[in-house]
Amino acid sequence: MRRRKDTRTERAQPAGMTDTALPSRLLLAEARVPRYTSYPTAAQFGPLEEATYRRWLTEQVSPGDSLSLYVHVPFCRDLCWYCACHTRPTRSAARIEAYLGALLAEAGQLAEALPAHGGIAHLHLGGGTPSILGPEGLRALVGLLRERFGLRPGAELAIELAPRLFDAPLAGTLGELGFTRASLGVQDIDLEIQRRIGRPQPVEQVAEAARMLRAAGIAGVNIDLMYGLPGQTEDHVAASARFAAGLGADRLAVFGYAHLPSARPHQRAIDAALLPGAAARMAQAERAERELVAAGYVALGLDHFARPEDPLAIAAAEGRLRRNFQGYTTDAAPVLLGLGASAIGSLPGGFAQNLVDERRYAEAVAAGHLPVAHGLAVTVEDRLRGNLIERLMCDFALDLDLDRPEAAAVIRDALPRLVELEGEGLVRRGPGRLEVTPLGRRFVRQVAACFDVHAGAAAARYSVAV
Ligand code: SF4
Repeated sequence: MRRRKDTRTERAQPAGMTDTALPSRLLLAEARVPRYTSYPTAAQFGPLEEATYRRWLTEQVSPGDSLSLYVHVPFCRDLCWYCACHTRPTRSAARIEAYLGALLAEAGQLAEALPAHGGIAHLHLGGGTPSILGPEGLRALVGLLRERFGLRPGAELAIELAPRLFDAPLAGTLGELGFTRASLGVQDIDLEIQRRIGRPQPVEQVAEAARMLRAAGIAGVNIDLMYGLPGQTEDHVAASARFAAGLGADRLAVFGYAHLPSARPHQRAIDAALLPGAAARMAQAERAERELVAAGYVALGLDHFARPEDPLAIAAAEGRLRRNFQGYTTDAAPVLLGLGASAIGSLPGGFAQNLVDERRYAEAVAAGHLPVAHGLAVTVEDRLRGNLIERLMCDFALDLDLDRPEAAAVIRDALPRLVELEGEGLVRRGPGRLEVTPLGRRFVRQVAACFDVHAGAAAARYSVAV
């Protein structure tokens, strides 16, 4: 098995404020590039016929294949101003119940459309706030998925949680249903920063949520933090990182805030004048990393951290880390199926995304359709580029297979840009190998973009690189 070097000593490097190449790196940090949770990215999706999706399911799922299932719940009690998810604020129990009905119907229709398969290895409930379904809704959903798809032994059942909408009965339900992992959105523990992003959430609430999860037997607790928020400083980020480590989180993600108010009008509530600039964002990301590494976490990929004994850290050390729409994962299932409005699935033949609008989604399901609307059939070249990008995002290194003509053409294509990044000190080329330097790791999305034929075409839709 391939082992990558322990990143703890390599990654934690100061922001490089005395470095003469800093201005050009700041330009790179401000460039807009995809997060590469897939390649091609959703920006390249076009219309997809239901018949094509049904054909992929029948032809590309085999009896031995384990399934990964993503279920999207597009509702939150309130909308956080920084949010980048497909979600709507609601307090209507009837609306949530109607959506649950559509989800259950879609799950039944999808189960019927599938040939024999090996059952669910990973189930991820995301949103939005999936716990808004409540204990009864979650029981109905997970019960139906178990019955219609089957769970493989040792399957991971994960859910995203908002600490503000969490209580002991819900924790108990998750425990009963066999959930193994929960992610708590924290972002920043400072009340003033929370006020500036429309997400008041006292630390006591987060600590209590983590305690309830552990008490309910949910072994994996993830915490999500952010940098680049309005008025945020390095000290805010450091305090939040120390708090999360103090709670004993098994995994952490530290995401940069992406301010795209033209695409997400609710972000206009955020005071853009208070947003940190590129140098401050880089310093914040690096400070979070230093704090978490000092607390014993291993830095993984672009923005994740895990305890050294956590399966994610082990997968990274063994070159088995994967990246999908949920970020870094150990999930190696060849088939990812999306359930719910806007959910995206991935099959060997391509990507399929459900209707985004919740009402149109429910109408399509009620009419007996698999409610796909967008997607992309991938070519051999797309797969090749996608694999190179995924390995770069996960391993910070690539074996360059120049013996295969198709691979050699893709690499030749990327070369002029790679040479430029080498000049910036961000990558290093050796015989048959490309490595992202410790300095370049923060810019790995830029390195990955060298292999992306679409990069630049939809730049306005992407967040800044750091
Ligand atoms: S709870 Fe999460 S999904 Fe809901 S609005 Fe806030 S950030 Fe978005």
